[in-house]
Formats: sequence, structure tokens, C-alpha cells
Amino acid sequence: MHGVKRSNEENGSVVDVAERTMLRNYRQAPIAIERGEGCEVFDRDGNGYLDMSAGIATSSLGHGHPALVQAIAAQASKVIHTSNYFLGDTNVKLAKALCAKMQMPRVFFCNSGSEANEALLKLARRYFYSKGERTRTKIVAFENGFHGRTLGALSITGKAAYREGFGALGDIVHLPFGDVEALERTLDKDVAAVIIEPIQGEGGVLPAPEGFLKHLRAQCTSVGALLFLDEVQTGVGRVGRWLASHGQEADPDAVALAKGLAGGVPIGAMLTKEYLVDALPPGTHGATFGGNALASAAALAVLETIESEGLLENAAKCGALLARGLNELVQTFPSVCESSRGEGLLQGLVLHKGMMARDWLPRFYANGLLVTAAGDRVIRLTPPLIVREEQIGAALSLIRETLHEGARS
Ligand SMILES: *Cc1c(COP(=O)(O)O)cnc(C)c1O
Repeated sequence: MHGVKRSNEENGSVVDVAERTMLRNYRQAPIAIERGEGCEVFDRDGNGYLDMSAGIATSSLGHGHPALVQAIAAQASKVIHTSNYFLGDTNVKLAKALCAKMQMPRVFFCNSGSEANEALLKLARRYFYSKGERTRTKIVAFENGFHGRTLGALSITGKAAYREGFGALGDIVHLPFGDVEALERTLDKDVAAVIIEPIQGEGGVLPAPEGFLKHLRAQCTSVGALLFLDEVQTGVGRVGRWLASHGQEADPDAVALAKGLAGGVPIGAMLTKEYLVDALPPGTHGATFGGNALASAAALAVLETIESEGLLENAAKCGALLARGLNELVQTFPSVCESSRGEGLLQGLVLHKGMMARDWLPRFYANGLLVTAAGDRVIRLTPPLIVREEQIGAALSLIRETLHEGARS
């Protein structure tokens, strides 16, 4: 059913053109995906793949979901884009729905995760600037964290390899993820904000230690710093809740969202508390495409479908099944796998030290399974939220087959 069974001619011609026209900033697999259906995608030659990556946790409703397709088509026929000189009917509806679900009263729309984090950084600077706290400029972030590729978001990203050769903007400190003592030593009245992912995604699917977010909240409050959560990867149902931080007493001042919010259509959002509503007065921030009608219609369809199809419950149920299956594979292949971890439909299979997850990807692809690498040695699974139990079972079989082949070679 899955895997490279047919010819590779069409793919080959796409690869040739890509090699001649595009920059070489990605390590792209020679698979030209042409279309998708539910949790499957098909390449130019008709080879099928079970998609357990969902475009890096973006295609939350899978591929070709009728509600999403219909919402985009209907909006396109009405109006696609109007700019922020005017209110948009669709983005105001989205604002209301999103704020209610995320339990945050205010929202700013943009186009990506990096942009949502840039908005957070500007929010922190302007907030303390207008309060007259001009020396409060420091941002605390965490080692191994990922916040995006634009220069501001890159500067708070906690992995030196991503930053190499680019320098950094501003006064930024990176602390060990989950280190309570380092936090207590570092937080002072010069810290404007602390930013953290509840589960480090790109860094290797690493959940923050139990109770850490709550502790962080208390520490931030005691020195008067803002607490920002980067839920770009973990938010919008990925772990079986609207936000991964819900239920953890994190009580953030602002939250960044993007990836899964519009089911694969580019969007980003910054949610804030009420007291930050005037921190970015007219003229201080914006985005031409922010709140774009097409993206907003897609996001509304995603939120409504998560609700109507019970996808939070599904993410929790299928996530538990996946976690159990991965844990069994760790027991079965101790020479390859060290452990597994994650929550809901954000799961990682950790390979042994010295192994590179990215070297394993072609083996998974050849067997017809799309997964991604996170950190150096984690195989990451982020299936669509619509995934069914039998598809989790099929994915686990393909992983088993791949580990079996890899362990022998
Ligand atoms: C992907 C990601 C980003 C960057 O999002 P882009 O849309 O690529 O700019 C930021 N933060 C986290 C946690 C992410 O996973």
C-alpha cells in the first residue's frame, strides 16, 4: 500500500528543476508531493505515504478535509484579502472564537510562528518602555529551545548551530531547560520577559519538567517580568488540549500560536492578557497579511472541526496509543532506541547517542512513512489530529519494519 513501488521518473524531473532553481537551505527528500487525502499523501509518480508529520504539525485536519476545503473556497469567492486599514468580518469572528478557546482575551494576527514571536519581543520592549522601565530589556529563553528563523526569533532560539554566523539581537540569556536554580539566579528587575515552549518541539520533543511552568510563573511575577509561552508547535489541540499549558497553572501574559492553527494555511497569532491591550499602540506594529480573510476562514474551520469532531479527545486517545506503541518498540529494539517521550500527538522516538535521526529518514520514506527529525537523534511524529487508531497501528508497523531493517544493516 505505502512506499516507493512505482517508477520515480516524474519525481526525478522535479528534483532536477529544484536543483537548478532553488537555494540550498533545506535538506529536501527527493519526493515531490502532489496531493493528499486524510492522513496519506501521494507523490508525482503515484507512490503513497502515510503522513505522520502533517507538514511539521501544521495540517491538523489532514489533507483535503471537506470542512477546510469548503471554508477556503467559500472565503476565496467572497474576498481573500483587504488589509488592516479595515476590519475583516472573518478575522473578527476568528478573534472571538480563538480568544474563547485559548482563554486569553486579546489577539494579534500575523503569518508565522517566527512573526508571532517577533510580536512578543516587541510587545515586551514597548510595554516596559512606555512604563518608563527603560533598563528592563533582558529576555530569558532556554537552551535547546526553538523560536524561529527571523533575526529576533533566532536570537532567542537556544541552539548555537542555528545562530552561527548571524549574530544576535538584544540582551538575551539562555538557561538550561527546566533548571529552577539557574532561573532563581538569573531573574531580576532587568528581565522584561521569559519565553518558553511547554514542550520543546524542534529541540527533540522534550516536555518541561512537571511543575516547572508553575514555578516559572511565580518567579516572573516576583520580579515583575512577563511570561511568554511559545505554543507554536504544541498549541491548538496537538497534545489533546487547546493549549499544552492548560492545566499547568502557567497563566502566561502572552502566547504565540501558528503551525496547526489554520490547517496548513500560513497564519500566526499572539494572544495577550487584557492589561497588554495598549502595549503596542497604533503605528507600532503590524503585518500586511495579518488577519488575512483566507487564512482566518481556514483557522475558523479548524477550530470548529476540532470541536465538532471531538479532535481534542482523539488526539489524547490516539496519542496514548502511539506513546504506548513507541515504548514497546524501545523495548524491542534496545540496540537502536534509547527511549520515547511526548504528549498527545507530539511524540518522539529517541535514538542512541551517536545516531543521527536525519540519517534514518530515507529508510522511513522508502517504507512509505513520513516522519521528521527533531534535535539530533529524535524521530518525531506529529500526525494530523484526525488520525484514526488503525492508522496509528499502521504507522507503528512501518516503524517496526524500518527499525528491524536498520538494526540489521
Ligand atoms: C516552528 C516553530 C516556530 C517558527 O515558526 P515559523 O512558522 O517557521 O516561523 C517557532 N516556535 C516554535 C515552538 C516552533 O515549533
